[in-house]
Amino acid sequence: GSSSSLKPSAKGKLSIQMEEFFEACQQQLSDLERKEMCRAQLQEDIQQCYPEGRLYLTGSSMNGLGCRSSDADLCLVITGTKRPDPVSVLSQLKRSFRSLTYIERIQLIRAKVPILRFRETGSDLEFDLNINNTVGIRNTFLLRSYANADLRVRPMILVVKKWARHNQINDASKGTLSSYTLVLMVLHYLQNLKEPVIPSLQRDYPECFNPSIEINMVPEGPKHIPPYNSRNRSSLGELLVGFLRYYAIDFRWDQQVISVREASTFPKDNSLEWRNKFICVEEPFERNNVARAVHEKIKFDTIKAQFAESYRILRLSGDLNSILPLRTII
Ligand code: ATP
Ligand code: MG
Repeated sequence: GSSSSLKPSAKGKLSIQMEEFFEACQQQLSDLERKEMCRAQLQEDIQQCYPEGRLYLTGSSMNGLGCRSSDADLCLVITGTKRPDPVSVLSQLKRSFRSLTYIERIQLIRAKVPILRFRETGSDLEFDLNINNTVGIRNTFLLRSYANADLRVRPMILVVKKWARHNQINDASKGTLSSYTLVLMVLHYLQNLKEPVIPSLQRDYPECFNPSIEINMVPEGPKHIPPYNSRNRSSLGELLVGFLRYYAIDFRWDQQVISVREASTFPKDNSLEWRNKFICVEEPFERNNVARAVHEKIKFDTIKAQFAESYRILRLSGDLNSILPLRTII
């Protein structure tokens, strides 16, 4: 169907606003270099206790979907020892990190995936370090390949992440959507259009995303995937309105599971992952629901209402400021 009811003039204006927003908030090379310096120093210090330990930058710092204020996600891969308990490894690291002067405010967070959270001393750069959650390394390089598949992907996702953050529906610890879930929801929308903007890269390049690729080879794997040659000519503005409309009107939350792996949806069945879940988004490398944090009806309703309300406002105004004030840029 028609993806938007914007006036032609508004389409151009909204697209330019999105492009400008993206340019202003995307992660800079200097931001990445700072994160990479800390990673290298930390790896060296960690190797005092874990000589085989290797530290990987993951998440938005590496996947091309980061902004200047994004945290740095780290995965410590320890092999050799048989299945170390993440919480005991993190407790030990917490003790030994106290002697490091370049980091401070170290906290152990016992979540489903336990992490050590800390900051670079005197700065607002925050780190989240997990142990052996290697699926995060694989999906980081999958997302990076999607970010490079079409020029519209990165501005779309950055604007949507900032929109969700501004509207307080981007915090998995408070029962709303993680950034990772939002990214998969945008990719699904772009894959599922009548003329797709992006394909399923796992289907088109299975050898690049084979889950049995050795973890230290994963960052090299998808380096030579060419941009996708999409016939879809929609502007950024049309795509943003279409995205809001899709989740406000078309998507059947009660029946469908989002699968970026298949570039499609499949019906919810009675299995543990999908049964009684408000939102079902499949992790591309595992049969897991990445949206399981949304477990309260009231939060689910808030999320749906936000899509509906922003869709209504944006199609009338054609102005990005009406749903995402420019002052939220950083
Ligand atoms: P932000 O810029 O807001 O920090 P982000 O892209 O880093 O966003 P997060 O939700 O913080 O996204 O997740 C960081 C990374 O952790 C993701 O890129 C992904 O690799 C991994 N990850 C997060 N949630 C899951 C999950 N449920 N299953 C598997 N991997 C996950
Ligand atoms: Mg992050």
